[in-house]
Amino acid sequence: MTQLFVDHKAPPRTGARLPAANRRVAIVGGGAAGTLSAIHLLRAASEPLDLAIVDAGGRFGPGVAYGTPDPLHLLNVPAGRMGGIAGRPDHFLRWLRARGHDVEEADFLPRRRYGEYLEAQLAAAIATADPASRITLHHAEAHRLAEKHGGGLILELSAGDSLEADHAVLAVGPLPGGDPVEVPAEVRASGRCVADPWRPRALDRAREASDVLIVGTGLTMVDVALSLATARPRMNLHAISRHGFVPRSHRRELTAIEPFPIPTDEGTIDQVAAAFFDRIAVVSQEGGDWRDVVDSARPLIPAVWQSLEPAEKRRFLARFQRLWEIHRFRVAPDGAERLAALRRAGRLRVSARRLARLEAIRGGVRAWLDGGDAGPEPLEVGAVISCCGAATDIRHAAPPLVAGLIDDGLARPDALGLGLDIGPGGALLDRAGRASLPVHVVGALRRGVEWEAISVTEIRDQADLVAREIVARRGAKALA
Ligand SMILES: Cc1cc2nc3c(=O)[nH]c(=O)nc-3n(C[C@H](O)[C@H](O)[C@H](O)COP(=O)(O)OP(=O)(O)OC[C@H]3O[C@@H](n4cnc5c(N)ncnc54)[C@H](O)[C@@H]3O)c2cc1C
Repeated sequence: MTQLFVDHKAPPRTGARLPAANRRVAIVGGGAAGTLSAIHLLRAASEPLDLAIVDAGGRFGPGVAYGTPDPLHLLNVPAGRMGGIAGRPDHFLRWLRARGHDVEEADFLPRRRYGEYLEAQLAAAIATADPASRITLHHAEAHRLAEKHGGGLILELSAGDSLEADHAVLAVGPLPGGDPVEVPAEVRASGRCVADPWRPRALDRAREASDVLIVGTGLTMVDVALSLATARPRMNLHAISRHGFVPRSHRRELTAIEPFPIPTDEGTIDQVAAAFFDRIAVVSQEGGDWRDVVDSARPLIPAVWQSLEPAEKRRFLARFQRLWEIHRFRVAPDGAERLAALRRAGRLRVSARRLARLEAIRGGVRAWLDGGDAGPEPLEVGAVISCCGAATDIRHAAPPLVAGLIDDGLARPDALGLGLDIGPGGALLDRAGRASLPVHVVGALRRGVEWEAISVTEIRDQADLVAREIVARRGAKALA
């Protein structure tokens, strides 16, 4: 029977079915990306595996996005497209229906349901893995990955433990975000400034406030605003961002995904944008919807992105990124309606402002906002929540594991510094641009190279390819 150890102290590798060399895979990150990597690997392996999954939070499946218990936090992709298995977009829908849920393809479900699905898929993959496999779930932070003298990899974990592996998958999620501005010590100590709204109980203090400032106006703002407004019906919410753009709504019907050609030969972002606008005009004339155009382009984006020079990519980030994101990362229709009702009632005010600084006041925080006609203006609130999302420059925001790889020359930032540079199939590239280590990247850290890399629709395909690559390499080495 497959051996499963849910502890950071797995028994030593001895015994009757001693795992052979070249079977050891370590996955860093137990969110959706790490979990889907493990599932695809267990499905693809034809020989026993010694698989370790390491997660700093000690949860294996939901990760940040699908760990929220709030039923108002909905998936932003219809159920019929959220299947976690490559080539089977309806896998999630079928799983739900097999459990008696009355769900339609176009429904937007609570994200916690998807967390349950991931946990169940991991459990099923473990249960059906080769009986001689050993799977260990480590509740630990991996802070260093290095080449082991004499071959292989060594992964150093918190509490002084370490793991040896023949292959590693980095599925560590997006770069950690931070405070939107410097937070005075007194404000920090009061717990009224929240840098990460997804931390357990992060919003407890804010729920007591009558006015809350939310910095950032994307999808996380939508979730936080709905949670807070529901918890405290008289609360006033102020949401600000540089542009004041709010994500657009999904339709209740599924979009029709028909690919269209996007030129990649001239390599300018203006040309790509023109192709989009032309297509939207044609689709609209034919009675279609711009959402069809955005969604149909998604599989093409990595190739289009790679055809652009770094300077053109930077122009995209400066000129089009926010516009792209509010059309691409849309709110589920129910969420959008709730948000619109809050805005109509004047309980949520969204504006294009910038947070300049914070100061502690009795019983709250004074936030100074730039960008109004009258210069910096004070806003007194009970709490400030940062919904600014992930950091965007790995050269300044890399967590220890990734920073160590870069410092040691085993990895390098992509051309824009949004994540790590990777080769075909997600192979980690070293300082010289070679795939010198048996390490692959799945998820957000591929963003600089592929751009469309962070949703389940992309992660499941990345996980599938990486699993196949690892299995193929094992075979090759076994023959050697
Ligand atoms: C709020 C939100 C909602 C979203 N909704 C959707 C949606 O509806 N549909 C969709 O397709 N996509 C959605 N996404 C996109 C989402 O990013 C992906 O679907 C997916 O959840 C990303 O998972 P991940 O494993 O890459 O990252 P994470 O969920 O962040 O998981 C990374 C894990 O790695 C662990 N980790 C990191 N570093 C280390 C280390 N050094 N050692 C040990 N462990 C480590 C962390 O503890 C964490 O558990 C959403 C994203 C967010 C933030």
